[in-house]
Amino acid sequence: MNQSFEKLQNQLEKAMALQTAMVLFEWDNETAAPKEAAERTAAVIGSLSSQYLDIMTGEKLKTALKECSGQMSEMTEVEQAIVRETEEEVEKLERIPADEYRSFAELTARATGIWADAREKKDFSLFAPVLKEIVDYQKRFASYQAKEGQKLYDVMLDNYEKDFGMKELDEFFRVVKEGIVPLLKESAKRSEQIDDSFLSAGYTEEQQEKAARFLAEYVGFDFDRGILAVSAHPFTTNLHNKDVRITTHYLDRIDSSIYSVIHESGHAVYELGIRDDLTQTPAGQGASMGMHESQSRFFENIMGRNRNFWVPIYGNMQEIFGSPLKEVSLDDFLAAVNKTIPRLIRTEADELSYCLHVLVRYEIEKLMIEENAEIDSLPELWNDKYEEYLGIRPKDDGEGILQDIHWSQGSFGYFPSYALGNAFGAQLYHRMKQEMDFDGLLREGRADVIREYLREHIHQYGKLKTSRQLLKDATGEDFNPAYYVEYLTERYGK
Ligand code: ZN
Repeated sequence: MNQSFEKLQNQLEKAMALQTAMVLFEWDNETAAPKEAAERTAAVIGSLSSQYLDIMTGEKLKTALKECSGQMSEMTEVEQAIVRETEEEVEKLERIPADEYRSFAELTARATGIWADAREKKDFSLFAPVLKEIVDYQKRFASYQAKEGQKLYDVMLDNYEKDFGMKELDEFFRVVKEGIVPLLKESAKRSEQIDDSFLSAGYTEEQQEKAARFLAEYVGFDFDRGILAVSAHPFTTNLHNKDVRITTHYLDRIDSSIYSVIHESGHAVYELGIRDDLTQTPAGQGASMGMHESQSRFFENIMGRNRNFWVPIYGNMQEIFGSPLKEVSLDDFLAAVNKTIPRLIRTEADELSYCLHVLVRYEIEKLMIEENAEIDSLPELWNDKYEEYLGIRPKDDGEGILQDIHWSQGSFGYFPSYALGNAFGAQLYHRMKQEMDFDGLLREGRADVIREYLREHIHQYGKLKTSRQLLKDATGEDFNPAYYVEYLTERYGK
């Protein structure tokens, strides 16, 4: 091993250990910790995180990093990726002056409380002043980072998904909107007659948990390298490729936990599939937020809402849940879980209307950051867009502009990666159908072949390549949103 790289790795090992500990505390907070632990745990996490910051921005690490950048040609591909990702992380940590960073952290800590209160009271005007402050901070932070001539919203987008700025996204959403809006109208009309009452028929939590474990294992979640727990909102936590954890929730409707578990298993299988020489390094996680979401949504939708996926295992579900599911045919089950009805809340959206929810947020963020839109005018704008794209209008701010936590946390530019993920997945799916009998494999219970394909082409690489490069290498062409419309038309167009 290169000597400079060895020095760098010594520092990184310490930093990664601290990060792993922080992640574990965060997991514990959401799943198991007693209520009164919160305050002391927050202090522990605060201390760990400042130690992390000290190492990452310390002289030892920076000297080693500098030496490494001068010797890139002597390094392996993996070493180069680790150097590159470390440089990016250090740059990110140092970009914002410490005092501004601290006051922003205090502001968002306060803002999430204000947002929650405003949402409960369905009154945007309570949130508007603090949102204005957050937007100002975000613009300033983006300006510290912007390259010559770069637009501020492009900087924010780039933080979540490299190579996808407003130019790419405008075109992406144009194609998606033109394809989906007419499809949704037709499909929603047909969905009105579908009976889905058997999905909430008093099934117990034990039954749901049994189904969740069965499904997680079926799609490739490895219970020797992961665990399943319960939390308010489902999420995935990864420590390294031998320890990836998922959560779900058990509500009245069983399709909620069924699809949550398949979704989170998709995230988990990605992290479990990352190579040993990358895991627990700065390059050892999913390529991007969008690529991550592409895998979880691939599992959830492209596989999980395909009739063939259920052929070998629907009997198991009927056995676990008993009546009335036992008396429901597979076709009726499929029709119920694929029902498309435009709803006001993004997280409850069906597969078809999902991207339109994201589009609304993208357009409004663009107006906020690039056009200096009046914050007070946003609820009206939001409602108009819902009416235009989804044909429904929120009756108050609670089910309108106040529904997402993201802006109160200072996350701008984050939403589009949800939509991009769907499109990445559809492009991969298009390619896979040329290389394998996708439906036949699912029918025969061979989801493992599909998973293995994704591991080989996407998962193993971690951050070795950008999402755009991964997609190019896996499918032989650059990103093309037409495949997403093609996929949705195939599924919902008849
Ligand atoms: Zn997800």
